[in-house]
Amino acid sequence: MVVDTLVHFSNKYGSDSELVLAGGGNTSAKENGILYVKGSGTSLSDITADGFVKMDIQKLMVMLDKKYPSGDSEREAAALHDLMAARLPSESMKRPSVETLLHAIFPQRYVLHLHPALINGLTCGADGKNIADTLFKDDILWIDICKPGYILANICNKKMKEYKARTGKDVSVMLLQNHGVFIADDTEGGLSEKLDFVMSTLRSLLTEHPDFSPCLSENAETDKFKAALVSLYGENSFAVYCGNKEAVKFSSSLNDADELLKPFTPDHIVYCKANPLFVESFDALRDGFEGYKTKYGYPPKIVMVKGMGFFAVGESEKKAETARLLFIDAMKIAVYSRSFGGRLPMTDGLTDFIINWEVESYRSKQN
Ligand SMILES: [Zn+2]
Repeated sequence: MVVDTLVHFSNKYGSDSELVLAGGGNTSAKENGILYVKGSGTSLSDITADGFVKMDIQKLMVMLDKKYPSGDSEREAAALHDLMAARLPSESMKRPSVETLLHAIFPQRYVLHLHPALINGLTCGADGKNIADTLFKDDILWIDICKPGYILANICNKKMKEYKARTGKDVSVMLLQNHGVFIADDTEGGLSEKLDFVMSTLRSLLTEHPDFSPCLSENAETDKFKAALVSLYGENSFAVYCGNKEAVKFSSSLNDADELLKPFTPDHIVYCKANPLFVESFDALRDGFEGYKTKYGYPPKIVMVKGMGFFAVGESEKKAETARLLFIDAMKIAVYSRSFGGRLPMTDGLTDFIINWEVESYRSKQN
């Protein structure tokens, strides 16, 4: 029964492109000491009961009080080991979501975690925290940007306890800076009410909306770029083009592209790489591409071309298309964040951390 409800709302929210892109977002339910959490590499839109991993909640909670090594990779490896050991014996072939611990620390039956562009307009806004405090007061808990994985779960756990001591209630809406939202409730209807409340409140405050109406279409010039990108990126790769109004506006000059030159959330790093390449013309493409590779050690996935919009490139059509969708998401967040004090990208230190994070790289391989 609990799992039926879990599958139902996972499919419902997973099919809404305003809320979920690619393999993003995750959900869970709790019953009789077991956490049913989305498996890594599955998609909410078509997940079935089998896509959830059964975890021992008690074993997960023990992780929060454990002393792990202080080095990033040693800590994450040890925590990943314990996370895997918290699976029920029947689940040995499945890998739980990298955000499993965050689901476990909510006492409510159902948890919904999403990265909606509208909410991230606020969480990636320079005044986001102040606006959230003023708007929602004690209806939400705000979590400042921090390292993902074990550190994030540990900080949330502490802040949730402080919140309960202060307000007498459990956190039911948690906003994570440069990341997304967690919503928890004992009923599916309660999740929906809370999500609608946050979304409609933020929507009412927007002073600017992105314009994704068609502008430039594919032609001989875009074909030339796509062919060149495929040859530069490597055999069997794939390139897709985006020339909608907002993309063309952002690509008018390097200055106009500025809001997009740093990532907003881990999703953008995982699927689009941390930085797009901006080139002035076709003649500048080869040198720009090679220079980017030398600088970062990997090729760009997003190439903005002056006045044309952008191209997304990847090892397969699906990967190129996912990169395109996620860069459109970054454009949405950039525009929405103007209503919340202007954009606040991820810090360089955290960006490097995510680039090197094994668990996240696993996610991008899966999707
Ligand atoms: Zn997340």
